[in-house]
Amino acid sequence: MPYRMLGFSPEDDPERWHRLRCFADREQGVRLSHALYVYPVLLLLLYFTTTIFQDHPYWIWAMVSVIVFALGLRVVILVRFDSIYQKDPRLWRLLLALTVLLIAAFCGVLAAAVIFTYGFDSWVYSLVIAWVAGITAGAVISFTPNALLGRIQVCSVFFPIILTGLWLGTAHGYAFAFSSVIFAVFLFVQGDRLNTAYWKQLVDRDREATINRELETAKKSAETANRAKTQFLANMSHEIRTPMHGILGMVQLLQHSGVNPQQSDYLRLLHGSAKDLLRVLNDILDLSKIEAGKLALEAIPFSPGRVTEDVAAVLSTQAHDKQVELRIAVSPTVPAFVLGDPVRLKQVLLNLVANALKFTDQGYVELSVEAGPVFGGHADLTFHVRDTGIGIPAAQQRDIFEAFAQVDGSVTRRHGGTGLGLSISAQLVELMRGRIELISEPGKGSDFFFTLHLPCETIGAEPAGDAAPSDPGRPLKILLAEDNSLNQIVAVRLLSKHGHHVHVVPNGREAIAAVESGHFDLILMDNQMPELCGIEATQLLRGNGCALPIVGISANALLGDRQRFLDAGMDGYVAKPFHAEELYAEIRRCLQASRMPLQ
Ligand code: ADP
Repeated sequence: MPYRMLGFSPEDDPERWHRLRCFADREQGVRLSHALYVYPVLLLLLYFTTTIFQDHPYWIWAMVSVIVFALGLRVVILVRFDSIYQKDPRLWRLLLALTVLLIAAFCGVLAAAVIFTYGFDSWVYSLVIAWVAGITAGAVISFTPNALLGRIQVCSVFFPIILTGLWLGTAHGYAFAFSSVIFAVFLFVQGDRLNTAYWKQLVDRDREATINRELETAKKSAETANRAKTQFLANMSHEIRTPMHGILGMVQLLQHSGVNPQQSDYLRLLHGSAKDLLRVLNDILDLSKIEAGKLALEAIPFSPGRVTEDVAAVLSTQAHDKQVELRIAVSPTVPAFVLGDPVRLKQVLLNLVANALKFTDQGYVELSVEAGPVFGGHADLTFHVRDTGIGIPAAQQRDIFEAFAQVDGSVTRRHGGTGLGLSISAQLVELMRGRIELISEPGKGSDFFFTLHLPCETIGAEPAGDAAPSDPGRPLKILLAEDNSLNQIVAVRLLSKHGHHVHVVPNGREAIAAVESGHFDLILMDNQMPELCGIEATQLLRGNGCALPIVGISANALLGDRQRFLDAGMDGYVAKPFHAEELYAEIRRCLQASRMPLQ
């Protein structure tokens, strides 16, 4: 059988073999059903164009009856493929072979009888030749899935014909027998070639389908695992951010509670460690958000020059401590304002410049921004972060953009870091439709750069982040709905330090009751609270006609939270843990938006 040549046998994989064989048999059945129309037509043709049935009534009719019976049997076998094949595939094949043998043999005998009766000079002979050639060639194609049946067919048809030719013994007879042999051999060879090609294609297709099935399963399980990971990170973010908020807040309060210098030093270290922990947490969260496709970028007006300066300002102390010169260079061609996401751009630049400072012990670190000509209202801004530090070997230059990748293990021990910064930065720049590239030489330094194609903003836009947050002004009456006692203390202290009055309730239901019975300027609404969560409470309050500004607080820093909060009717949103400045900026924004009188 050709499957042996294909490097696959039934013993290797019986289940697969059975599946393929079943497919081939069914297909053979379908192919043969076409032949069912051919035989009756031929018989009718003989009946109407010749007198053979009248001239030889007995045995010709007997043969025709056998052919018709075998055709009927084949119809039954094909129609009942499912039931017979399921019980016994061998029986089905045997029955099929029997009908093939019967039909072919009797067709052959019929043809031979016609030649014998009419001789080679009659037109009936030509008709028979055309018929035999046609049905056997067609049969070879029908029997492609099973070469044996094809051979049975060819032999059964040609055997009586060749015998007749030889029996007649004339020159015509021998020539006829000889050409029939050649034709039969040709059909044998063709049948084998078709059969081999058919099985090869079938096995290849099956292999491909198996690979696709496996890939599909692997893809599905990877997606499930990824979803579980994102969900886990979102949950962890909530669980860790809530106590982190408490820790950072309490440390801030402790620092201002008259501690001695040594305690203040400890608190500074504690604060630093807590912030480091928060940074790692934020990195992991960012990565999971990007991977889950849940990170959407903002498009607001901002000044690229201002962002560059802000980055330098944040890292200037670090540069000063390391005695490394931190330079910034903003080309005069850079537009005053562009549309984009200043927070994410700052995050990328902060990471690149912080890395440059981390890996540079002498020389300088330079952050520069240049712009190409404005075209169609857009400008190409190219940011470079160059340093004269240790550089990165060529072999590692591609890998460092992978998550958790570092040039060598000792880096973590000496400089700390998780190996996530570049991966996040690269993905953020990709989201901004740019690509971070790197030119670096060990011992000489590195140049990380990327180009962003951003729309220019000409109307007197305010650079994002310029509004001085600080305090909203006059003392406010604030209703705080928060169930966590530590967070309650932190928020109350932060707010009351600036003279605001804070009334605390532990859940949404009590918040609604408090609004009904008291007078407030603003509500700070945590989301995850027992009995009634912040979103539901806000919906009920808005339903009752309450127009107070509501600032949502969430420990779930996943994308979509802000929108969910705003959709519920809140005016603003801060994610825990927040700085006093962030909270005040949001309060101020919400008060302005709601046109509440400010001092
Ligand atoms: P982390 O700095 O937290 O380890 P990053 O993804 O930001 O993670 O950086 C990955 C690695 O790339 C670093 O550990 C360091 O080996 C290498 N690297 C990044 N920036 C520089 C640089 N400016 N000079 C030399 N090596 C760098």
